[in-house]
Amino acid sequence: MTYDADVIIAGAGMTGATLALALKSGGLTPVLIDPLVFEIQTAPAFDGRASAIAFSSFRQWLQIGVGEALVPHAQRIEQILVTDGKAPGASRSRGMRSFLRFDADEIADAVEGEPLGYMIENRHIRAALGQAVVAQGIEVLAPAKVASVEVQGAGAAVRLDDGRTLTAPLVVGAEGRFSPVRQAAGIGVIGWDYPQAGIVATVAFEEDHEGVAHEYFLPSGPFAILPLTGKRASLVWTESVERGKALTAARPEVVEAHLARRFGEFVGAVKLDGPRFSYPLSLQLAERMYAERIAILGDAAHAIHPIAGQGLNLGLKDAAALAEVLVDAVRLGEDMGSTIVLERYAAWRRFDNVALAAATDVFNRLFSTDDRLVRAARGVGMGIVNRIGPARRFFMQEAGGAVGDLPRLLRGVPL
Ligand SMILES: Cc1cc2nc3c(=O)[nH]c(=O)nc-3n(C[C@H](O)[C@H](O)[C@H](O)COP(=O)(O)OP(=O)(O)OC[C@H]3O[C@@H](n4cnc5c(N)ncnc54)[C@H](O)[C@@H]3O)c2cc1C
Repeated sequence: MTYDADVIIAGAGMTGATLALALKSGGLTPVLIDPLVFEIQTAPAFDGRASAIAFSSFRQWLQIGVGEALVPHAQRIEQILVTDGKAPGASRSRGMRSFLRFDADEIADAVEGEPLGYMIENRHIRAALGQAVVAQGIEVLAPAKVASVEVQGAGAAVRLDDGRTLTAPLVVGAEGRFSPVRQAAGIGVIGWDYPQAGIVATVAFEEDHEGVAHEYFLPSGPFAILPLTGKRASLVWTESVERGKALTAARPEVVEAHLARRFGEFVGAVKLDGPRFSYPLSLQLAERMYAERIAILGDAAHAIHPIAGQGLNLGLKDAAALAEVLVDAVRLGEDMGSTIVLERYAAWRRFDNVALAAATDVFNRLFSTDDRLVRAARGVGMGIVNRIGPARRFFMQEAGGAVGDLPRLLRGVPL
């Protein structure tokens, strides 16, 4: 049987494009399909978020030809201070009230000087991925939507909304939470919406942030100040949906005055640098990660609360694992769309994805409350972790994606 590609990937977002480049680096021929062309994805008003990228995720991007373009935009996270929200200003968290302090120096020997992670604006990530996809000659069908998927013996046929049909031994759904490929495969989801919105804004400081990330726990939910290149930071602010609407609609001076009270003195004056964005938050886990000739990854398989900044990292790990399983299967002469091969991918990723989804859900509940007992208990818990060096180092390595059986690309080894 002849096919149009080795792998048809629906969704050229950050996980879909990463998978395409990883497969290409292993000698396979992917094709990407997306309703949006890359230029739309990189427009300033399209995605105002910045992502905390684990150092292992960054190693993969270096291996597949994306990392170099990102280096000038990647801010090293040297320290993370986790503070109880009742402290009236970030300045207090320096030394006095921080319950948890993670320092890149502590794990520098184990990870050869890599930081705790990198903060990179999504528009730069999308631009670098788009450029690499074009440079490596990967075919992109955009604008186009997957209308249906039909599995026919040794292949799958994808029909697009413009009437075209493509065939491949494997179809991958990377189209985010509402994945049509997942639905076509009959894979159900479990989960719920959070009564919270994720407000995102970029701010400029008067003084240098020195690569320090702050996470506060306020009664409405976590508030993160994440350092960006230059004297800037990305704020991720979990609020009730109603308060979220008010914050995105309020005049910039009102929001800046509110931020000044919240930040205290530690970085001088704070100015908004661009529009504010509001994202609905939900937990959604697919019941399975594959069906015959179909695999799913990224938010199509698991969408989680941003409290730990790990949603995209999970999708990038999926991409690294799936690419390795498929490239190795082809080298051994196996059928890459068979359930035997796809089960290897699912078995590799299942535990990590489910464990992180559950952990972020529990953390969000635990840290979005003003209940005195819960606050006291979490303060004690954080204080204990803070005093135990090995526990702190474990959390840092886990957040950096360096724990467990890592796919080759996440170790910085080519396929
Ligand atoms: C406020 C907030 C902050 C976050 N911060 C972080 C962080 O610091 N670190 C981190 O790791 N994660 C973070 N995340 C999570 C992260 O943003 C997501 O996990 C990630 O964007 C998911 O990427 P994806 O490519 O899987 O899906 P998406 O970004 O949803 O991309 C899906 C793609 O599929 C396309 N598509 C849609 N329909 C079709 C169709 N029918 N056919 C073909 N293509 C289609 C879309 O156009 C899009 O390009 C955050 C999330 C939020 C809400």
